[in-house]
Amino acid sequence: MDFKRLARPEIVAMKPYVSARSGAAADGILLNANEAPATHVDEPIWQHLALNRYPPPQPAELKEQLAAIYDVATSNLLLTRGSDEGIDLLMRVFCRAGEDAMVECSPCFGMYRIAATIQNARVIDVPRQLANGFAIDFDQLVNVIQENDDIKLVFLTSPNNPTGDLIFQQQLESVLKACKDKALVVLDEAYIEFCEVDSAAALIGRWPHLVVLRTLSKAWAAAGVRCGVVIADPEVIALLQRVIAPYPLAATVIDAAMRCVSMEARLSQQNLVGEIRLRRQRFYDFLSSCDAVEAFWESEANFVLIRVADAAGLTQWCADQGIRIRDFSSQTQLKGCVRVTIGSEPEQTELQGVMQNYAEKIRKERNE
Ligand SMILES: *Cc1c(COP(=O)(O)O)cnc(C)c1O
Repeated sequence: MDFKRLARPEIVAMKPYVSARSGAAADGILLNANEAPATHVDEPIWQHLALNRYPPPQPAELKEQLAAIYDVATSNLLLTRGSDEGIDLLMRVFCRAGEDAMVECSPCFGMYRIAATIQNARVIDVPRQLANGFAIDFDQLVNVIQENDDIKLVFLTSPNNPTGDLIFQQQLESVLKACKDKALVVLDEAYIEFCEVDSAAALIGRWPHLVVLRTLSKAWAAAGVRCGVVIADPEVIALLQRVIAPYPLAATVIDAAMRCVSMEARLSQQNLVGEIRLRRQRFYDFLSSCDAVEAFWESEANFVLIRVADAAGLTQWCADQGIRIRDFSSQTQLKGCVRVTIGSEPEQTELQGVMQNYAEKIRKERNE
């Protein structure tokens, strides 16, 4: 696939910036980046992380570790400031303002639309089917892709936020077929560690216009680190690299991310995911027995979408007891819906108590 034809012509034509650290090795006496020596800073972290220096733009060791974890080659990987930056880069590289379009299947992660709006790319929504457990109508999606010549990006999320459902390989491949020589398919796998399916990243060799997003923010308990990756064909990575900030990851971020992917951290990460899945299962049992709950959707991620009679009322009730849940009821298909993250064991106990009290309050009001 000719990615240079797909990308914005200005980005392809531009001579990219070469920073001090990307244009030369970072060894010996470094007098090429206008940095000051750290001799006057009395903070051990300055010496430890060389905070007087610009950090490596794409630190090799972190890249190798993440490539091993995601089972891809380092040439398929771009380290970013969270997946949010990956989404933004894709939008800016591939969508011409006022001319190109992207597709999403709502309800979905809100940042796709925000990034498109900032870039002035048209948003085409192919809404999920509420009556069918929020499933995507893949026939309709393929039709929309075939009927619109301006589509450059198709965003899919598996497991999806906030509905928690998966996209299967056959469904993904039907979209990849429709997008061949036309658009990139961006599969956001922010929550994939919480379920037992394989990442689609292995398919990039066969489908070079597939892009996969992964992040340390969710299953690695490291949202504050701000580190994610774009996994794509090396040519797509090279195009994104033309636009990414010269030093996207702070030295503190690189240090924290390296701690995340250490062998011990990998083991405890697997335990964490196992515990969250267990608590998710117990939460379902609670939700089934809680009579304030009208419906909930079983989720492959670390959250559950729940429908109640009064979503704003429940959200406020929880907030008054010091628990924040997310009210989604203003979205067309999510009337009465809240999304609740699976927390720690004591947090879940607390939440269930507060929801139980809410149910009793509702029951009393009904009887009056
Ligand atoms: C949370 C979330 C992200 C954000 O990831 P960051 O790496 O923290 O920027 C991306 N996609 C989806 C679907 C999410 O829910």
